[in-house]
Amino acid sequence: MMSHEPRVDAPAVAGTASPRVPFSFEIYPPRTPEQLPALYETIRVLAAAGPRFISVTFGAGGSTTDRSLTVLTHILRETTVPPVAHVTCVGSSYAEATTVIRDFLDAGITRFLALRGDPPAGVGEDDIVFGDLESAAQLVQLIGRVQAERSPYREREIPGLPGAVQVTDGDRVEIAVAAFPNGHPRSRHRYEDIDALLAKQAAGATSALTQLFFHADEYLDFVERARAAGVVIPIVPGIMPITSPGRLRRVLELTGDARPDSLAAALESAPDAAAQRAVGLAHAADLARSVVAGGADGIHLYAFNNHDTVLGVLRAAELIPEASP
Ligand code: FAD
Repeated sequence: MMSHEPRVDAPAVAGTASPRVPFSFEIYPPRTPEQLPALYETIRVLAAAGPRFISVTFGAGGSTTDRSLTVLTHILRETTVPPVAHVTCVGSSYAEATTVIRDFLDAGITRFLALRGDPPAGVGEDDIVFGDLESAAQLVQLIGRVQAERSPYREREIPGLPGAVQVTDGDRVEIAVAAFPNGHPRSRHRYEDIDALLAKQAAGATSALTQLFFHADEYLDFVERARAAGVVIPIVPGIMPITSPGRLRRVLELTGDARPDSLAAALESAPDAAAQRAVGLAHAADLARSVVAGGADGIHLYAFNNHDTVLGVLRAAELIPEASP
């Protein structure tokens, strides 16, 4: 059960008063190869902060497969941080989804975020044309199956018995899924999202990352309801620094969440872009502090391919030292 008491078990981060809370970042593949060097510099700085992983988004329908793979393999080869591949299934056949999963596994990617995927622009939730896979839970199962077929078992030599091998389970993949503290636009009832998360857990998901939210209680209450319903996998809060009124508008269109009035007013009354960024950064840092105090055992930050803001959030929340990195 999620505790609302401050964490007392973990050691403090040197130079801060905070416990050592793992954090991760999400980035997206750039549209053109010319933008890659700037992203690689961002990845270098983000990696130096010591995240648990860096995840790379995936265009629904496979529109970014090659670009996502380029960024994922860069993280794999050039840093010590594990990359996590977002994979979506909306509109895909089994054969297409299987090919994508195999390509990623062949490239050495063993951690996934399995998603249904956003509907194409202008298409509502009720008008989505699904392919063979209709939900993220089915994709979780498919990833597990493709990996099991690829690597059904491992053979270990038995010391002292030449030629003899011990057979053990094959390599497992880690599969995260999405969770929605404020409900997914498709869900008709607040427990549908918990049921969907239970289905993903039953299919083999090993952790969940949440959609962004604006108030810590939205996350903490969701975790409490999920635990009561039997969800045992970690549910990591996703935090997005909202650094402009335009970004807030776009996010509300996507999530269907209620407008957070005080954040919206603060962003609108900020005199310039730098002041708006400061508002968004402070809001995200407050959220991070509050969910950690409420028992969250990690923070996932939407970085928008920029390191300054998310590292500023972690510093302001005292989750990394002032001088880092
Ligand atoms: P699902 O779990 O399949 O379903 C979403 C909701 O539909 C459920 O919560 C539930 O309310 C309802 N539902 C599901 N199954 C049923 C059922 N059988 N009966 C009734 N209701 C049901 N999109 C991209 O295109 N690319 C990305 O890289 C990407 N990254 C993301 C990262 C994070 C951390 C998050 C939170 C979202 C991301 N998304 C991305 C967006 C995501 O694809 C959309 O939010 C999508 O609409 C839902 O995806 P899902 O995997 O949760 O879907």
